[in-house]
Amino acid sequence: MKSFEANKLYFHDAANHLHLPDDIRQLLLTPSREVRVKVACQMDNGDIATYLGYRVQHNNSRGPMKGGLRFHPDVNLDEVRALASLMTWKTAVVDIPYGGAKGGIAIAPRELSLRERELVARTFIDQIHDVIGPDTDIPAPDMGTSAVEMAWMRHQWEKYHGFNPACFTGKPAEFYGALGREEATGRGVGILATKLIGRLGHKSRDIRVAIQGFGNVGSHAAKFLSEVEFPIVAVSDISGGYYRAEGLDMLDCLRYAMHHDGSLEGYHNADHITNEELLALDVELLIPAALGGVIDENNVDTIKASIIIEAANAPILPAADAKLHERDVLILPDILANAGGVTVSYFEWVQNRQHYRWDLDRVRQELEHVLTRAFEHVWQGSNERGISLRTAAYIIGVDRVNRATQLSGIAK
Ligand code: NAD
Repeated sequence: MKSFEANKLYFHDAANHLHLPDDIRQLLLTPSREVRVKVACQMDNGDIATYLGYRVQHNNSRGPMKGGLRFHPDVNLDEVRALASLMTWKTAVVDIPYGGAKGGIAIAPRELSLRERELVARTFIDQIHDVIGPDTDIPAPDMGTSAVEMAWMRHQWEKYHGFNPACFTGKPAEFYGALGREEATGRGVGILATKLIGRLGHKSRDIRVAIQGFGNVGSHAAKFLSEVEFPIVAVSDISGGYYRAEGLDMLDCLRYAMHHDGSLEGYHNADHITNEELLALDVELLIPAALGGVIDENNVDTIKASIIIEAANAPILPAADAKLHERDVLILPDILANAGGVTVSYFEWVQNRQHYRWDLDRVRQELEHVLTRAFEHVWQGSNERGISLRTAAYIIGVDRVNRATQLSGIAK
């Protein structure tokens, strides 16, 4: 099952709890607008390359639409559509005044020169600039894009519409970006882990943690969790896993990755294990923070962790999710767990609109406030109804979007 099918399944589960009729489900599931554009650029060797770019705007009943732009060869309309709706429910769960959108270009960015990447990014904005903007749809970085692409795209958008840095978020700090945006998703995972463990009555030092993925999200989550005394016994990246039963020296791991282009390859102060072995480790808390679909029907029975926090998008496929639920494994779902990034994107947009910069302490405090409020709400919903945290989160998200949609009068 692909992630867009999983997303629909979870939506219908929530819609059943909310007793939503079929016509309302159709109204909420159908994207407002889907744009597919040709992105044609002359490459360094003189050839003309023609790519396809997408922007799907799912729902704007709660505010301007918000979502990443990814550069990846697998980008396709079905996936972008699913990720756009995921953003609608995610922004609603954390209750920031946005709808959901997503976009991307089917391209392998690592195969392009810097000049080619800039040209592709700017040409894409030439094609979609009139459907995005600070009051309509605000893109942000995603897989294969970073603050650099956001800077190029903001600059290109402003050529048409004039100065307005709130048209993109995730920009470089010196180009109207927010302090704390880069760490926000991983830090959010750490904040939520602390809340969850506290709610369960455990002490952080008794919770052994394994984290798959040591990129932006995984490394910042690891840093935060080690600072609040969780023993992190394993981390991994595409080069494999690194394990130490008594806990890894996280500062040493972070320093090593920093000096090796973000990679842990060759890290010697730990035992080398595979990514599959990391997922099956005897730990209390497992944090998949790399790819989608890494826990499926084939390996779900090997999972020993009693708590899983979905830092990546859709790391657990629905069949595995159901089995883990039967085994009482507690799962903090992606639509809440990795919402720290979009939350700080919202703070960036607020700062841009007010022309007022917050310091890092304020960003961190407000992030904690928003995520704690959302966590408590989801936790309460789950306990009151005797349902999973995932279903509780979807119910909150779908219910808020439904109410706003009804209030706008569309369904009448
Ligand atoms: P990233 O590219 O910075 O890091 C990805 C990490 O995963 C790297 O350490 C990489 O080596 C590792 N990896 C890649 N292939 C792997 C494999 N086959 N096995 C094991 N590890 C592998 O990406 P990121 O920004 O940290 O995003 C990670 C996940 O979190 C993605 O699912 C992304 O959609 C999700 N997410 C990210 C953000 C954000 O703000 N960055 C926000 C929400 C969700």
